Amino acid sequence: MQYFSLNNNAKAVGFEKAVRFGLAPDRGLYFPQQIDGLSDSFWDNFLQMSHHEIALHAIEQFVGGEIPNDELQKIVEDTLCFDFPIVELSQNIATLELFHGPTMAFKDVGGRFMARCLGYFNQNSDEKITVLVATSGDTGGAVASGFLGVSGVEVVILYPKGKVSHIQELQLTTQGQNITAIEVDGVFDDCQEMVKTAFLDETLKPHRNLTSANSINVARWLPQSFYYFFAVQELMKRKVKNPIVFSVPSGNFGNICAGFIAKELGLPVSHFIASTNQNNTFPRYMESGIYDPQPSVQTISNAMDVGNPSNFDRINKLFNQDLYRLKNVCSSYYFSDKETHKAMQEIYENFSYVADPHGAIGYLGLQKYFENNPDYYGVFLETAHPVKFLDVVEKAIKTKVNIPPQIEEILDRVPEKTPISSYRELKEYLIDNAVK
Ligand SMILES: *Cc1c(COP(=O)(O)O)cnc(C)c1O
Repeated sequence: MQYFSLNNNAKAVGFEKAVRFGLAPDRGLYFPQQIDGLSDSFWDNFLQMSHHEIALHAIEQFVGGEIPNDELQKIVEDTLCFDFPIVELSQNIATLELFHGPTMAFKDVGGRFMARCLGYFNQNSDEKITVLVATSGDTGGAVASGFLGVSGVEVVILYPKGKVSHIQELQLTTQGQNITAIEVDGVFDDCQEMVKTAFLDETLKPHRNLTSANSINVARWLPQSFYYFFAVQELMKRKVKNPIVFSVPSGNFGNICAGFIAKELGLPVSHFIASTNQNNTFPRYMESGIYDPQPSVQTISNAMDVGNPSNFDRINKLFNQDLYRLKNVCSSYYFSDKETHKAMQEIYENFSYVADPHGAIGYLGLQKYFENNPDYYGVFLETAHPVKFLDVVEKAIKTKVNIPPQIEEILDRVPEKTPISSYRELKEYLIDNAVK
């Protein structure tokens, strides 16, 4: 499998290079040169397959033999060490819980898979890799946990001071070993900007081999297609007859874009809904055909506070820049904090279910779609556990949320972080602390 750059100005590379580089040298996103639907025999056996078997088949062509199959199988098994339950709320609404992993967010899937791939590629190399990642909350924790103890890889996480939840901060700053956290005096956009500057900084190259672990990295992005398969398999087992629509709470659009890949591979999904908060660049694009990114605004669903979704180019490529084709497969709606708050209350009162603010937006997207398409079976993705947004959730449902053991365990740890306020300080840090 070869990956080409969507900026068309860099040469195509195999899976290993695409994972190591993260972004192509021309700053474009990597995209698979070809996507083949899964075979008839796969679909004949689909209902009997384990999650591990499904995932292995789904990812095989993208790895293109660069990891031997027995190793890839181990990576997949190790990645998928938790459940992906579907909880039915009503006759035609269910939620797919993606938060049963170590950091209780769906990003555990991509984070764990990518870490294990890099670990494999690095096992016989004495060159160290630094994963430099900016986070608005969940990415950092998932990457930290996924990469913990992976030899030859150091992880440096940048997060905005005071802008992540207390639990998210603990997940970032208390891992130790090969994980370090940098607290940036600024907002998420400043962190992202510093990461981009570091990637472009030629004078850093002799000191650090940098790669990214955001969903621009194909090894973080593609495995996110797995759980769409698991969900459809489960609904088939439950003999759901109506066409299936997934509502995906979206920020950088990596998750929904992985859903589109699952559909390309042949998964019977009728429609997708990209549900966003007030950061509505994509729904506005779908309405007007004009892509007009705006600076991000802060909301209570902070993991989706993205004004310029990085996977937009991939979506364009998948649908050949054809808005008509895109609309056939995807609808998009956006919602305010007030609506999100109300949705959390409604879900709790009507179904005794505690949703987090991101899942609540997914739920609202489904409701909106059902207005004109009542005959669907809707699944909204619960992208994080409500405990990660404790204050907001408890305020909405006026009830205490139970703290799960993964979180309980870190509550009395002491954060370790390096505060910085400029790119110059980040650079000094990266050079001074480089291990050769
Ligand atoms: C990252 C994240 C999202 C957005 O996912 P994208 O792939 O960036 O669209 C939604 N919800 C939660 C809880 C997240 O952490």
